[in-house]
Amino acid sequence: MTMPEYIEQAESALLHTYNRYQIVLDRGEGVYLYDYDGKKYLDFCAGIAVFALGYGNKAYNDALKAQIDKVIHTSNYYYNVPAIEAAKKLLEVSGMSRVFFTNSGAEAAEGAIKAARKYAYLKDGRHDHEIIAMEKSFHGRTMGALSVTGNPKYREAFEPMIGNIRFAKMNDIDSVKELVNEKTCAIMLETVQGEGGIYPAEVEFLSEIRKICDEKDILLILDEIQCGMGRTGSMFAFLKYGIRPDILLSAKALTCGVPGGAFLLGEKAAENSLKAGDHGTTYGGNPLAAAATVEVLRQFEEKDIPGHVKKIGDYLWQKLDEISEKYDMIKAHRGIGLMQGLEFDVPVGEIIKGCMDRGLILINAGTNIIRFVPPLVIEKEHVDEMLGILEQVLTLNA
Ligand SMILES: *Cc1c(COP(=O)(O)O)cnc(C)c1O
Repeated sequence: MTMPEYIEQAESALLHTYNRYQIVLDRGEGVYLYDYDGKKYLDFCAGIAVFALGYGNKAYNDALKAQIDKVIHTSNYYYNVPAIEAAKKLLEVSGMSRVFFTNSGAEAAEGAIKAARKYAYLKDGRHDHEIIAMEKSFHGRTMGALSVTGNPKYREAFEPMIGNIRFAKMNDIDSVKELVNEKTCAIMLETVQGEGGIYPAEVEFLSEIRKICDEKDILLILDEIQCGMGRTGSMFAFLKYGIRPDILLSAKALTCGVPGGAFLLGEKAAENSLKAGDHGTTYGGNPLAAAATVEVLRQFEEKDIPGHVKKIGDYLWQKLDEISEKYDMIKAHRGIGLMQGLEFDVPVGEIIKGCMDRGLILINAGTNIIRFVPPLVIEKEHVDEMLGILEQVLTLNA
């Protein structure tokens, strides 16, 4: 069958919830993907900030194959060694106290919301606790995660959301303070907003929030599903801020392609929230997903991935700054490490399409922003290759 025939079949079989790019991807090697016709693409999307270690990573593939031959799934009624090892290592690199493994990012957000409500309920027995989330945030597509997602377009058709969610403005501390009251049980944000357009939390803003949470015994939930796992040049983005969340969300690069996620709790939240019977999952932390996390964390340490990201991220920053100067259509350059964005004064769809035709995969974040979230193992030469293609397309569109 040809690629267009496969695409036609996909369009008649899959529910049309995505406007997909018109390629069928077939295999990957390093930082390149190949479509079904054998065309090669430099990948600056990484499956939406997931595949950090590069495609065809032999040690990762071998670790998964070995686990498949032992046992893939057992349920959470029993212990399994990969989950124990993944948990120990994850707590060590994050400084958190306890972890609950999930199957996705949205599910980690759901767990965090439940933990925060339970924490507050145990204190005062109320049923009207509020969560403060941020405008432009993204936490997932399930009902709870959607309820704290600050994009009205995503929520509109599915109202009513879960109740008592308030939205403040990222990096506007007064907008947060205005919403805090005796019902507030959590303040939830992405340390660096991803889908909303690559907006890092300012140091002052996040430390003020931490202070408010400490004073009022409110839980701070940081969603690092996209910006965590080395992407900003430290293992987790919050580590640069000199503060710690009470609940930390992880997913995406945590398992690098096998579905998985986690929410991690600090001691206070762990001791005073979810108890036996309060929460569960059939698949979460199963031996296959946990083996993926163990191997991902092993390679992060062995290769000093965060250090590498810092180096290449600085180079990407410098290069993107140069082209921001050169093209009037680029309005802003934001981000950190290998999570950067260019904001244009026009929709970026045509630019992304043009790059794709020339063998470069890029993604947007909102209509006007190109998001750069490549595999974390890219080198300077890949940044140069990406810029060569992007500039060709920008010249044509300028
Ligand atoms: C992707 C993402 C999610 C949702 O994760 P899923 O695995 O798609 O459910 C939540 N929060 C952030 C910041 C994300 O980038």
